[in-house]
Amino acid sequence: MEEIVIIGSGIAGYSAAMCLNQLSCGYKLITGNINNIGGQLNKATQIENYPGAEVGISGINFMNIVKNDVGTDNFVYDEVIDVDFSTNIFKIKTNKGLLESKSVIICTGKSYNKLNINNEDFYVGKGISYCVMCDSFLYRNKSVCVVGGGDSAIRGVIHLSKIAKNVHLLVRSDKLRANNKLVEGLNECQNVIIHYNTTIQNINGENYVESIDIIKNMEHTRLDIDCIFVMIGSTPNTDIFSKYIDLDNNGYIITDAKNETNINGVFAGGDVQSNTYKQAIIAAGNGYNAAINAYYYVKSIQLK
Ligand SMILES: Cc1cc2nc3c(=O)[nH]c(=O)nc-3n(C[C@H](O)[C@H](O)[C@H](O)COP(=O)(O)OP(=O)(O)OC[C@H]3O[C@@H](n4cnc5c(N)ncnc54)[C@H](O)[C@@H]3O)c2cc1C
Repeated sequence: MEEIVIIGSGIAGYSAAMCLNQLSCGYKLITGNINNIGGQLNKATQIENYPGAEVGISGINFMNIVKNDVGTDNFVYDEVIDVDFSTNIFKIKTNKGLLESKSVIICTGKSYNKLNINNEDFYVGKGISYCVMCDSFLYRNKSVCVVGGGDSAIRGVIHLSKIAKNVHLLVRSDKLRANNKLVEGLNECQNVIIHYNTTIQNINGENYVESIDIIKNMEHTRLDIDCIFVMIGSTPNTDIFSKYIDLDNNGYIITDAKNETNINGVFAGGDVQSNTYKQAIIAAGNGYNAAINAYYYVKSIQLK
């Protein structure tokens, strides 16, 4: 039986592992899909807002450094497909087998909702971004578009309007869903063009996004832009835990100050958690906090 199993190989999972290394506590870290080792930060063109990160370093390079610091001896290259938290010997089922553990730390993050256009994946990091705060600085005095009509999309447009030359806001329906205060702020932006009843049909550009073909009120038009910010929400990776773990209305895991869930001994850290800002430094801190508390939990229990 394992002392602690960490699920997820993003910055939260790595930080939890780093903590357990320091405490000389046994653990296994289940990485998830091998194409997503390192998690969302791998997609960052450049790491922002992370103390000590070398200026200009890419997400992939940064996460490789963190992975090397952690060491991969305890990694299990597999994906969790089911869990059984009904007793205090936790069972974690993966594609290839079953692990039992005294404690679990869930760091499965979230996945951004995609446009689901043919060549979308090719342009991620080359003119498609799912994070305005992370990538807006790359588009100073450029033309960009934001897809979405909710609070985070409008917040993103207002932020971008101060940086980009102009911002096209593409809204699928005929109205915005954002709150009134944000819409007031949007109306004050001079360089924002709102396109209602609009969807993207195609993305063009040899290596980077250069233009998009849109359908607006049934008519086809081309817009020359350098980046598409996709702001149509995200989905936490919590389905497999929902039978046991309390989630908020949006499917994120509810935790207390110890990063513990409603089940004693099951902790969660990072973007998967409810009510946290979705930033790397916060995910790292919460992953680390979850690990310290998991360690003390394991030291204190009598297994039944
Ligand atoms: C393009 C982009 C740029 C960004 N830039 C910045 C930035 O510059 N600065 C900043 O602070 N933040 C940035 N962010 C936000 C930051 O990436 C996240 O806040 C952070 O990565 C969250 O880390 P996490 O470990 O909680 O989750 P994630 O990074 O989402 O990692 C989750 C991990 O869990 C794994 N997993 C999921 N399901 C399973 C399963 N069933 N079994 C096993 N494993 C599973 C995944 O494969 C992945 O490895 C950016 C985000 C994006 C998308």
